[in-house]
Amino acid sequence: MSQLSWPISTFFRGAELEETGHGFVESLVAWAKSSLGGKGFAHGIHPPENKDDTRDLAIEPFPLPELLTIPLAQHIGKPSKPVVGKGDKVTRGQLIAEPDGFMSVAIHAPVSGVIRKIAPAPNIKGKMEPAFFLQPDEDASQEMPAQERFDYQTATPAEIIAAIQQAGIVGLGGAAFPTHAKIKVPEGKSADTLLINGAECEPYLTTDHRVMLEHADDVMTGIEYLLKACGAKQAIIAVEANKEDAAETLRAAIRPGRPVTVEVLPVKYPQGAEKMLAKSVLGREVPAGGLPIDVGIVCVNVGTTANVGRLLPHRLGLYERVVTVGGPGVKRKGNFRIAIGTTLRFILETVGTEEDISTVVMGGPMMGNAASSLDIPITKGSTGVIAMTQQQTGVMIDRKEYPCITCGACVDACPMFLNPSQLGLLSKNGRFDTMASDYHLMACFECGCCSYVCPSKIPLVERFRVAKAAIRSGGGKR
Ligand code: SF4
Ligand code: SF4
Repeated sequence: MSQLSWPISTFFRGAELEETGHGFVESLVAWAKSSLGGKGFAHGIHPPENKDDTRDLAIEPFPLPELLTIPLAQHIGKPSKPVVGKGDKVTRGQLIAEPDGFMSVAIHAPVSGVIRKIAPAPNIKGKMEPAFFLQPDEDASQEMPAQERFDYQTATPAEIIAAIQQAGIVGLGGAAFPTHAKIKVPEGKSADTLLINGAECEPYLTTDHRVMLEHADDVMTGIEYLLKACGAKQAIIAVEANKEDAAETLRAAIRPGRPVTVEVLPVKYPQGAEKMLAKSVLGREVPAGGLPIDVGIVCVNVGTTANVGRLLPHRLGLYERVVTVGGPGVKRKGNFRIAIGTTLRFILETVGTEEDISTVVMGGPMMGNAASSLDIPITKGSTGVIAMTQQQTGVMIDRKEYPCITCGACVDACPMFLNPSQLGLLSKNGRFDTMASDYHLMACFECGCCSYVCPSKIPLVERFRVAKAAIRSGGGKR
């Protein structure tokens, strides 16, 4: 497998172009459609969905590995603080790390077993970070002890926010932003709408789709907790038109008299980005540098919502999640409920792979990263494990970058109305400060649309990540 760690949207488009001829022309059509008005947001693209292999496969439990690697840093914010150490026996669901400040959440043991060590392990970016190494005890009961119930009807908003933090719930759509921090409305602001994000616009991924079909009642319970916590008067669940069955299931699950509606949106990438969703559903523009709460919206992923509804009433912690395992390199594709800490190596050995696997992507192909090692574990933010074959990645491995021909396709695709072409030229010259000050680099949320449409195969989003990292570390001037 290649030892790479980069966003793969450039290669993804190249591979699809060879197979389907999609790309530049499609993006122009998308732009034309969005510019003609109607529901939706401007710009964006229509990459091939590649969801057919797994969309109809029900969620299955996944076997446990012989050793789990559970990172202390699984979310945006401060890593969690261990409360157990080497040699300690833990039971399934037990708290093993507590929040270290407000922007931090708890971690719970995915299985009963023994903490073998706390030591550095590779994360998706290739960086070594502290992790628990937990060895399951085959003879131990994996039964969860019953807890006193926690009811949204009697709990206060502050108690719900604290319970979500203690349950270790973060954004399961990939962002891994602590959910309790998102639903705590800042002083001076208010939320009128809870927007539940079921767009799942990334190709290949079908986890949210299956959760909506199989756990609609948990979604409704989660909505009750979230509505009370953020004070919004209505909830809207946004689903793309390629998941009509999920929309119907959710509509049927709405409890009588509750202010919950389901909105079906045209399929378009990156509709699942919060700002795009706010525009598509409510026609509200989130200001540059702002958040949905600035326009009265709290936006929560639908998988996250289902976990709030599934875990909170029983005071349980988040120690497993649904992951799509797919891509052309995987033999037994599926949507699996996988313990946090299960490595890519164990997952791929279990499902079986084609011989010419070249790249394993964590997340979707547009915003995900190629894994730098198979020792990387599933974390709370892992939406997918997508294995590509050499036939597909040949486009990437041999990729030759051509000069910018100023075709403007990237400008037409960018949903943030940035100028990726100009940003790309500036990044090549190391003018990172100018990218930020004059061309709003920090408004780029790395959706990969520009890389996808670029006929010159310029890895634009990869460059923007490098530039942002340089600016954040104080190396903006070069
Ligand atoms: S510049 Fe950023 S936000 Fe715009 S298309 Fe490229 S990756 Fe997406
Ligand atoms: S970077 Fe240049 S060649 Fe690539 S899409 Fe933008 S304008 Fe076209």
